[in-house]
Formats: sequence, C-alpha cells, structure tokens
Amino acid sequence: MLELKHIKKYYHVGDSVTKALDDVSVAFRKKEFVAILGPSGSGKTTMLNGIGGLDVYDSGDLIIKGKSTQDFKASDWDAYRNNSVGFIFQSYNIIGHLSILDNVEMGMTLSGVGNAEKKAKAVKALERVGLGPHMNKRPNQLSGGQMQRVAIARAIANDPEILLCDEPTGALDTETSVQIMDLIKELSAERLVIMVTHNPDLAREYASRIIEFADGKIQHDSNPYNEETSNENFALQKTKMTYWTALKLSFTNIKTKKGRTALTAFASSIGIIGIAVVLSLSTGFQTQVNKTQTNTLAQMPITISQTAQQQQKQSDKIKTAKASNQTVTARVSQADKATHTNNLTIDYLTYIKNMSPSLSNNVTYTYSTGMNLLRQVDGKTKSVTFSNKNSKSSTATSMSAAMSSMSGVATSVYPTSDNANFLKKHYQVVSGQYPTSANEVVLIANRDNTVNINALKNLGYSAKSGDQFKFSQIVGTTLKVVTNNDYYQKLPTGNYLPNKITDSLYNKANNQTIKVVGVLRAKTKDSDNVLASGIAYSDKLTQNIIKANKNSDIVKAQKDSDTNVMTGTRVDSDMRDTLISTLGGSSTPASILIYPNSFKNKDKVLSYLDKYNQGKSKDDKIIYTDLAGTVSSLTGGLMDAITYVLIAFAGISLVTSMIMIAIITYTSVLERTKEIGILKALGARKKDITRVFDAETTILGVASGVLGVVIAWLLTFPINAVLSNVTGLNNVAHLNPMHGVILIIISTVLTVLGGHIPARMAAKKDAATALRSE
Ligand code: ADP
Repeated sequence: MLELKHIKKYYHVGDSVTKALDDVSVAFRKKEFVAILGPSGSGKTTMLNGIGGLDVYDSGDLIIKGKSTQDFKASDWDAYRNNSVGFIFQSYNIIGHLSILDNVEMGMTLSGVGNAEKKAKAVKALERVGLGPHMNKRPNQLSGGQMQRVAIARAIANDPEILLCDEPTGALDTETSVQIMDLIKELSAERLVIMVTHNPDLAREYASRIIEFADGKIQHDSNPYNEETSNENFALQKTKMTYWTALKLSFTNIKTKKGRTALTAFASSIGIIGIAVVLSLSTGFQTQVNKTQTNTLAQMPITISQTAQQQQKQSDKIKTAKASNQTVTARVSQADKATHTNNLTIDYLTYIKNMSPSLSNNVTYTYSTGMNLLRQVDGKTKSVTFSNKNSKSSTATSMSAAMSSMSGVATSVYPTSDNANFLKKHYQVVSGQYPTSANEVVLIANRDNTVNINALKNLGYSAKSGDQFKFSQIVGTTLKVVTNNDYYQKLPTGNYLPNKITDSLYNKANNQTIKVVGVLRAKTKDSDNVLASGIAYSDKLTQNIIKANKNSDIVKAQKDSDTNVMTGTRVDSDMRDTLISTLGGSSTPASILIYPNSFKNKDKVLSYLDKYNQGKSKDDKIIYTDLAGTVSSLTGGLMDAITYVLIAFAGISLVTSMIMIAIITYTSVLERTKEIGILKALGARKKDITRVFDAETTILGVASGVLGVVIAWLLTFPINAVLSNVTGLNNVAHLNPMHGVILIIISTVLTVLGGHIPARMAAKKDAATALRSE
C-alpha cells in the first residue's frame, strides 16, 4: 500500500544539521493500526508529514500503491492529500470561524464534490463519531474531545485510505482519550492508520504494530512487512477551490473580527471619500459653469460689427535690433493694427441668413438708421428718440442702436425671427404684455424696477433722478414714425431741413403708429443686460423704416452729393455712407448679433463663420467677436486645473490606504498561518490559498469603496448647505452615480493589488511549518 525507501530529511539551521529522517525504509499494509513510538524530537512527525505529503523528503522514494512519488508535482501532492489521506492532529486544527459542518466538508469542498453529496457524507461522518446531536454548534462551543471528534469526522468524511494521527489524544483527559482511541481503532478496520505517540501504553493497547523511532531512524518494528510490487489502480483527482469557497472562507473569517474590519474599511475609504467629494464638487461646478455659460451666451452673443478688434499676433512685432541715437523707426500702432473693417456685403448677409436655424434661432441685426419719432406730450407734439444715451453728450442720438451694439453687449434691439421667444426666455411682463408685432415696443426695466433716466427723458418724460412713474403712464403710450419725405423739406438752396414739429406732422397719413405695450424685467440675474434698459424694439421695425425711407428724396439727394445735404459741409465717402444709413438709405446692418442656442452649437456657428473666411483676402475677411468664448475657456481651464490638483491630493490618500490594506492583509496572513496549514493538509493548492486572501481583500476593497462612496454622497448634503449659504448656489456638489461605480471598482482593484503580495507570501508557506505554528 505505502512504502518508504531510504527516505532522508535533513533540516539545516545555520551551521547545524538535524537529521530528522535518516535513511528510513518501511512498508505498510493496506489495513493496519501502526503506532510510531519515540521520544520527542526523534523525527516521528517529520515522517508522518512525509507520508501525508505535507513535507517533501530530500531523497529516497515514497511509493504509493506501487507508484513512485519522485516526480510528483505540487498539484499531485495536493490531490494525494485531498483524496487519499486524512489528518488528525493533537491540537485538532479546526477552523474556528467556520461551522462544524463546513469544517468537515472542507476537504470535499476543495475537490468540488456536489453540495448534496458533500453534506450527506459530512453528516454521516459526524454521526459516526458521535456528534450527530452537536452538529449545529459553533466550534468554540465544543469540548476538547468533541473538537477531536470533529477533526476525525473531517479526516474520514471523504473515506481516505490512509489516516494519519499525530498525538491525537495528547491534549485530552484519560477518559476522553480512551473514547477517541476506541474510535480510531474502529476506523483502522477499514484502512491504514498510522499514529504518532510517545505514550507506549497507548501504543501497546491499541496498535497492531509498533515502530520505535530514535534519532531519525527506525530502531524496532514489531510487525515488519515486505511490500510485493502491487499493481493497484492509482488515480488522483485534482483539487480546485472555487471562488465562491474562497469568498465564503474569507467572509466568515472577516465576520469574526467585525470591529477591526469596519475600522480598516473606513480608514481605507478615506482616499475614496476624498476623490468622490472632489469629483462631485467639480462635476457640480462644471454644471454650474455650463449653466452660466449658456446664460452668458444669451448675454454675450457672437458679434459681427462693421469694425472689429483683431487678435494680436506676436509675429507682427517689428524687429528693432538696436535703439539708435540717430533715427526713428516708423511702426503701425497697436490700435490701428487691431482695427479691422468688416465689409458686410450682401453675400455675407446671405451667408448668415443661410446658416442652419438649428444652430441659432436668434440673429439680431442692428442698423445705424435713425427714426423720425414724434410723441404728443400734454397735447404738444415733441421730437423724441428711443435712445438711452444722454442727449447732451451724445452727438448722434439717432445712431444709438448702432452705438450700443458696438459698445459691447447690451442692445435695445431684439430679434423678431423667433416670435418673441427671445424676450419670453429672458424677460417677464411686469405690466402690459409681450409685443406681438413690429410696431409694438416695450420698456425694459432693471431688476430693481429702475429705468435709465435718459431713456425716459428722450421719450419726452420730464424726469429727475428718483422720480417714479406709474406703469399706466408708460404702457399704452403711442408714438409716430414719420417718413423722410414728410419729415424733411427741401430748401430752395437744394439743402434739406427737418420740418417744424407740428401736430399736422404728427397726423400725416403715411406715419406709422408705434405703441409701448408693456414693461418687462429680466427673469434672472443672468438675463440682466441682455437688452439695455430703456425702450426695446424688434429689428423688424428698423427694417420697415428702411423699406419706407430707402428711396426717399433726401436719401437720393445724399447719395448724389459730396456734401452733407443738411449742413452743406463737405463729406468723404465714409462719412457719406454713414449719413445715408442714418437716413435709412442702407439696408446693410451696423452689426449682426448671433445668439447660438447651446455651447456646442456655438462652436458650430463659429466654424460656419470661419468657413466664410477661407481663401479670402485679408481685407475681405469678416472678423467676429466671441466674448463668451473668452470667458468660458478661462473658467473651464481653471476648473480643470483645480480638479486635477485636488484629485492628486486625494490620490495620495488612496495610495496610503492601499499600503494600509497590504499591511492588514499581511497581519491577517500571519494570524491565519495555522488555517493555511490546515487547508493545505486538506489538499488546497497554493493558488487556492492566494485566492482566499485575494477574496478577503476583495471584500475589504468593495466594502471600503462602497463605504467611501456612501459617505461622500452623505457629505454632499452638508457641503451643499454650506455652499448655498456662502455662494447662493444650490446643489453644487453632485456625485455622478457613474463616478461612484468607477470609484468602487478602483478601490477594489487597488486593494486587491495591495493585498496580493501578502497573499502570495501566504500561499508559499510550507504546510508542515504552518501547522507547527501556534
Ligand atoms: P517528533 O515528532 O519526534 O517530536 P519532529 O519530527 O517534530 O520530532 O522533529 C524532528 C527533528 O527535526 C527535531 O529535532 C526538530 O527540531 C527538527 N525539525 C523539525 N521541523 C524543523 C524545521 N522546519 N526546521 C528545522 N528543524 C526542524
């Protein structure tokens, strides 16, 4: 059955050599009860471990069923221990955190026996050793004798051919010892039992054969046996622990040290908390920035004016090698270089008109066209304007629309192309209603209900700062727009002059009636200044006026004259063009304002505009201003930078927690050395041991990841409360669920990586040494 041939096992410690087994040759029968007697340190355990495959001999051969084990691989030894050998130790070696049944089943679990069969066999084994009634207790609720019975049940559950017992009664009282010995004796009727003991009485009473050992050598054998070459069938079934078993082993182990695990998970979750909070804040801020960007978009349209500021180019610098004492160098001033005249041709206007409406439904055209506006105040007809400029300081009030559009963002012209949606989006009605036609205008009030005093004055109200006006004084007010032909008279000199402002001029049949239909106020802070405070009118109104005045006498006269037809002073062609458009003789807008409907579409609009410039000469290029872009690229870049720095800091704490997990796993490995030995004795492979510890770190990693994410999520509430107090922004911190999931995965992967090295160390542990450890 089993034969040792010249087995040697030497231990080298420092310079000294311990000959634990010194040329041992012995053979065992298929069924017998062998006692190995000898003083402590004589090599008994070493031999038993050698027979059981826990320890591999240095030289010689161990023959199992006629098969040499000289070229056994680790996996063969694992399978041999699992299939053919049962171990019983002096110190029971029950895995404390598993149930009795799980302990007994472990060998079969490792070899993948099906659940039902496994349980049936385990129950049978437990009943056989007399533990039927105690099956559901925890190991720590059992007496020493009962523990040893569990160990015996575990050893015989898979019905092995060899039972190896190392001082099985060494820790038991006499009465219990007798019961255990009786049990082992009974088992020896079916298999080979080899028992190590230093108690000669016990050996003599129970064993059928006594081998005496001393100094690593057999001194006497009471019943020697010579093995004939046997041709027994010998096949080993390989063991394999499933991930599920590994998880279960780790989980029950973790359960026994809940407090420590919770603390570890918490400590290692701090890195995750850090990153999650940073991410949720930056996502929140990003959302906030995006929101603001969409709003700045409304406030800062892409502007195409007749003159544009050009981007400075470094290459334009003149290389002045040396400042000379004798000469001066001519150069173009920065301001001159920067100004570019946009030639807004019909082509370009058509190009803008053809832009896909899905990109921008708001395109406003402002014109430098003046309006011949009249209003009757207290029964008297007065000349008024829609301008909000101070008429004393402004020389060309009639050009107000153009001025305001060129001076920056705010304009008093809104697009009509989208049926007043633009107004509805940004403004609410305080009194009256939204305009429904080109002849209806509104008064834009600031959010504190103030209105630019010039706007009121220019409309004909006598206003001093602080004066209050009822809505009813404003809403319903009507004005007249007089055509050029009615407004101007031709003098005999050929010059033109405005007619006297009279009631009859007010009542001319060709006049258009304009009505102030409402007072509007910005809905939110972001919409403030989308339109300038004062009268706002649609670009359609200006277009109508241009239509009416384009072919008026004064326009025709001005087109043919190189003097100002009103003052008689000479004008150059630029000045003449300005005069013509002021008089409504030009349908070329002073500026075009494009309000894209999203930031993405803004980029598309810009590239559409850029496309026009492709291949055009410098002078024909149309240069636009994108204020919103400048603002957003600034804030966006800043956000990214801050996020990276914060994540880097949080990452450091993540690495720290990873190292901590490695240390914890390492301690766990040390703590569970015995368990590693037991598992190995039961046939667990190195891989299985690694797997058990990897499973443990996986559990820890998932736990700390989930804990970190949950804590970070909980933290967003107080953070938001504080932020909303300080900045007035609501719900800034927002943890993206996707980020949460990714962080849990990162935590798990890092933890497993950190724990893997100690896990590998555990797997490398020598089984025999592991079992000897306390
Ligand atoms: P017994 O079981 O008869 O008490 P052992 O087989 O345990 O004896 O030990 C035999 C000898 O081998 C002892 O001297 C012991 O110190 C030595 N020994 C056992 N294991 C080791 C080891 N891992 N390293 C060094 N020496 C060992």
